[in-house]
This record gives sequence, structure tokens and C-alpha cells, in this order.
Amino acid sequence: MDTSEGFTSERTKRYSRQIVLPEVGPLGQLKLANASALIAGMGGLGCPAAYYLCAAGVGKIGVIDGDAVDLTNLHRQILHSVNDIGSPKVDSAKEKLNALNPECTVVPRGERLTASNVMEIISGYDIVLDCTDNFATRFLINDACVIAGKPLFYGAVLKFFGQAITILPGKGPCYRCIFNEPPPVGITPTCVQAGIMGVVPGIIGLIQATEALKYLLGMDDLLTGKLLTFDALTMELKKTDLRKNPKCPVCGSDPTINKPVEYELEPCDLDRDGANIDTVAYIAKALINEQTDREALKNERIGKESL
Ligand SMILES: [Zn+2]
Repeated sequence: MDTSEGFTSERTKRYSRQIVLPEVGPLGQLKLANASALIAGMGGLGCPAAYYLCAAGVGKIGVIDGDAVDLTNLHRQILHSVNDIGSPKVDSAKEKLNALNPECTVVPRGERLTASNVMEIISGYDIVLDCTDNFATRFLINDACVIAGKPLFYGAVLKFFGQAITILPGKGPCYRCIFNEPPPVGITPTCVQAGIMGVVPGIIGLIQATEALKYLLGMDDLLTGKLLTFDALTMELKKTDLRKNPKCPVCGSDPTINKPVEYELEPCDLDRDGANIDTVAYIAKALINEQTDREALKNERIGKESL
């Protein structure tokens, strides 16, 4: 690989503090320049993730979101400003990203991911960041990425809490290994009830971006098979092991889902102000259930052994 290719003195200077890292170097910087990332959702998670991936020198960033900027977005969706209210989020994002780094090719798509467009859209990118805010789209993106073999960087936030998982198809559990399917519409708290501390999606979005950069640079120790949780109230950061489900309907040994599935959106997803991020509560409940199952199994074994 010709490391001098495209490395003007200005480019070298822009990334100099990063290139000096042995884990990056000129070759790593070139890898980033040749890489592409799709960021689904230009909200609280997507804005910081896109900003830092663009700053780091990722060559092509796709941004997809069908919403327009609203005043209620501005306490956390840092790419948008007062002057952008009413404009498509992807246009606002493209303008800010190109102002930061004109070398980055930003591809805006002002629409929602659906079962009919997701495979075509993700096919144009090396990796996908799930920065969306509803179960229907999360399952859609997970299934599409598993089917296409695309690395997926998941993040979710609620109130003062956040979590992240890195999903490398074939190398660890996927989102469906943890949840079989979305919860019934209406059982999770609505977006207005939940609320969100503005800094929390900033932290989780940057964990997604960090994982994405490490993956693109070929680094190890990713959050594959791990759930990273962050609690801003106690400032605790924890990692929990996740297990692959051999019967997972999309990544298991006998998959029954071979194409993306369109689920019904929550009513507040259709008329949202962008704060519906209740996945955290749902995933926490599922993990507690799994741990309880494991404990029950352990106790059963101990009981049999002591007989
Ligand atoms: Zn799976």
C-alpha cells in the first residue's frame, strides 16, 4: 500500500496528533480515508458519532434520518442549531460535517430505513452505526447487517443511562440473540415519559464511534459479545458478557429470517420529539431474566451434585 498516496502536507498536519499513535500511523490513517460508515439516525447518538468519525478522517459518511430539526432536539443533538429548526436533520448534519472536514464525503438520505430500502442502503458502506431510537428500526438494522455480514455498532440511552454493543456477524451475538423480537407496541414508556440527560447520548455515541474507529484500524478488544453500560448517576461503567443464541432466528444455525422484517412503529415513533430511547430498560430487564435463569440452572446443578 502506498502510504504517500493522497497525503498532502495539510492532510498530514490535520491528522498529525492521531498519526503519531503507533496504533494508527500513516497506514491506519489511510485505512480510515478509504473507509465508509453509515450512521442511522442523526439524533443524540448520531450527531456526536458522525462528528468524531468525520474529524478522525473517515472518508465517506452516510447519514440517514427522515426527521426535521426541532427545538426539543437541541439540548443533545449537537450538529443542529437554532437556524436549522424545520430543516431536514441530514442537511444540517452534512453542512456541519463538511465545515469541520471538507475532505469527508457526506451522503445525506432524508428518509427512514425500511425493509425495502435497508439492504440497498447498507450495501454502500463498510460498517453501520445504529443511532436510532425505536425497536422496529433496531431489529431491521440488526437483521440487515447480519444477513449482509456488516459490522454493526449499537448504542441506546435512557434518562441517565446508556449502553453499547458491537455486533460482528459470525463472531458474536447479535441483537436478536438477546431479544427474540420487539416488545409489543405500547408496553414500553413513551418518549415523553422517559426523558434524557443531554450529555448521556454524547458519551454513548462516542463509545460507538470509538468502537467503529478501532474496528476500521484493525484493533482488538472490541465490545463483541459484551454489553457496556454507563450510569451517569454513579459514574459506573460496566461490561457484561452476552451469549450467542444458537437458536437465534437470524444468526443461529437454522435461521428463519432471511430478509429484513418490517415491524410496527410505536405511536410516539411516528410523532416523536426524539427522546424515545427506552431500549435500555428493556435490555436491562432481559439481562436480569437471563441472569436469573443462569442462577436457577446453577442452583439446580448444585442441588443435584449435593444429593
Ligand atoms: Zn443472533
